[in-house]
Amino acid sequence: MHSAAGIEDRLFTPARIRLTVWYVSVLAAVLIVLGTALYLVVRNQLLNSVDNGLKVVAARASAQWVDSGTIRLDELSTGPYVVNYTSALQGGVTREPNGMIHVDWDSMLAADQSGHDLRTSGASGDRRRVYSVLVNGVTGSALIQVSRSLEPEHEALSKLLVGLFVGGLLGLVGAALGGWFLAGKSLRPVRVAFDRQHAFVADASHELRTPLAVIRANAEFISTEQPENPEAKEILGETDRLSGLVDALLAVARGDEATPALALVVDVAELTEGAVASFQPLAAEKGLELTVATAEKLEVPGDADQLRQVLVILLDNAVRYSAEGGRIHVQARANGSSALVTVHDTGIGIPADQLERIFERFYRGDEARNRQSGGAGLGLAIAQELVNRHHGKLTAESTEGAGSTFTVQLPRST
Ligand code: ADP
Repeated sequence: MHSAAGIEDRLFTPARIRLTVWYVSVLAAVLIVLGTALYLVVRNQLLNSVDNGLKVVAARASAQWVDSGTIRLDELSTGPYVVNYTSALQGGVTREPNGMIHVDWDSMLAADQSGHDLRTSGASGDRRRVYSVLVNGVTGSALIQVSRSLEPEHEALSKLLVGLFVGGLLGLVGAALGGWFLAGKSLRPVRVAFDRQHAFVADASHELRTPLAVIRANAEFISTEQPENPEAKEILGETDRLSGLVDALLAVARGDEATPALALVVDVAELTEGAVASFQPLAAEKGLELTVATAEKLEVPGDADQLRQVLVILLDNAVRYSAEGGRIHVQARANGSSALVTVHDTGIGIPADQLERIFERFYRGDEARNRQSGGAGLGLAIAQELVNRHHGKLTAESTEGAGSTFTVQLPRST
């Protein structure tokens, strides 16, 4: 049959990979947004509750000062909070003998200026949240500072971060596996349809060959019998055109499964010379100047027949889309690790908006001008397929009305 593992690999595996990548990317985006939101909310909550605690303790200490002009730390339930206080900063600092650990004098001074101050101080590993407030009591004013280490919160937050990261990563791995499975499942009907269509094209082309051969033989017979009969000539011409199309269709259908014979070495220079030589009569007939310049030897791994077909397609187009008096120049040369074959013509050129479509199957430029020139729009599709199979690239540059250059780039033998 016409379906083969090769088609699957080249057409469906990339599609399956793309679908999976999409699936995972979307999930990753959702997880990043959700994870970031969750982290920020939790962080906010934690830090807020620390601030609230600071303020509650500070309020209790302030109340003591206002009521009694003194602060009795042992009567404050401070928990993890450290309370420091000092009275009359401006008039000579008096530090109350309450241990005075973890005092942030910058914060004290700031509170002395503005009434209160809330800040985070210290470097990573020793961060503290500090709240200082200026209180006026009967015995004068005092600065009360309540602070607390933020390390437990930071530790919890970094654990949360690691958890989110590991969880997210596991989720993504799961999604990739699931996505791969689902993509395979959803592509299955497409693959079946593709295989059927493929088989149909190949079978139909094959079946068409015999009747075409019979028609051609009959038309040839008539035209030998009646050399002046214009209908017979017309039939012959059209039959040849149709045979060409059928061959091309068959080539496309088969092309999808054929594996390239890259074990052999082809001299592209020699191949180019040969292909150009075979086009000289046709070019002369159309009044075109066809020249060739090749390197000494230009070896690439590949299939000579297939590569010759590529050149024939490009030369055929160059001749077909050039007007009398035009020039076609073919060049084969080495460029680093590549072999480059360029077919340059001074023909009608290709409009910029069509340039990327010319490699599509059955795509033909401007309908009107192509109707007389007889192609089916398969030439470049086949050429590109053949070049791809050689791990090469077929590219086109063109200026409408001035001409086109097609470049075949192939990796050279090492
Ligand atoms: P076909 O020549 O049978 O129409 P191809 O696949 O070979 O099909 O080419 C596709 C289209 O690209 C052509 O219809 C034509 O419009 C354009 N084209 C290809 N080669 C040339 C060229 N050398 N100069 C101008 N147009 C070109």
